[in-house]
Amino acid sequence: MQKRYIPAIVLFVALLMLLAGLGARMTAVPAISFAAEKEIFLTFDDGPSSSVTESILDILKEENIKATFFIVGDRVQGREETLRRIAREGHTLGVHSQTHVYSEIYASASRLAEDADACAETIRRTTGVSPRVYRFPGGGKHPASAKLLRQKGYRIVGWNAVCGDEEIAGADAETLYLSAVNTAKGKQPVVLLCHDSATHRETAEALPRIIAHFRAEGYTFSAF
Ligand SMILES: [Zn+2]
Repeated sequence: MQKRYIPAIVLFVALLMLLAGLGARMTAVPAISFAAEKEIFLTFDDGPSSSVTESILDILKEENIKATFFIVGDRVQGREETLRRIAREGHTLGVHSQTHVYSEIYASASRLAEDADACAETIRRTTGVSPRVYRFPGGGKHPASAKLLRQKGYRIVGWNAVCGDEEIAGADAETLYLSAVNTAKGKQPVVLLCHDSATHRETAEALPRIIAHFRAEGYTFSAF
């Protein structure tokens, strides 16, 4: 072989290797996008609370995760700074209820809409944020109320997995972790229900393990 062909051959081989590498990357794309499809929404109802919300916020900050907080308006007084911290750290503030008293809010669709308005106004007045998501206290469908809320521009958010902090009496952090993992199985995306009211210290305690599990499983953490 003549010496003058050698640089051309080297170039040709280098080009082939580059194309092979590119091909390998292209075939890897579906696996990557499949992993990105696994998504979990962490949601916290019934706050703000004096004892638990700040702990939850510390953990979320440390883990660089955004979550959604469904607020009870009557619990904001004296905890305005906590509510502002939720907003300031990039989490979503949603409407849960002003009073969380079922007999009042479920008396009629219009009463529920008034209750939602009062909670939204509390959030707006305190943080400057106009909430756009809503969660029914106690869950359920409530079609007439849902229609009214959608007309007001709310997206109604339910859940399909629970950490069990309301459902399992006296649950410790380990039980909450296992409940989150087990109830989320086969759900896509996962919308995990948790609570951050005063009686739920174990929820904050379980949170790092819950996050570690879903992160190891390749989930993306999202807020509404
Ligand atoms: Zn609630």
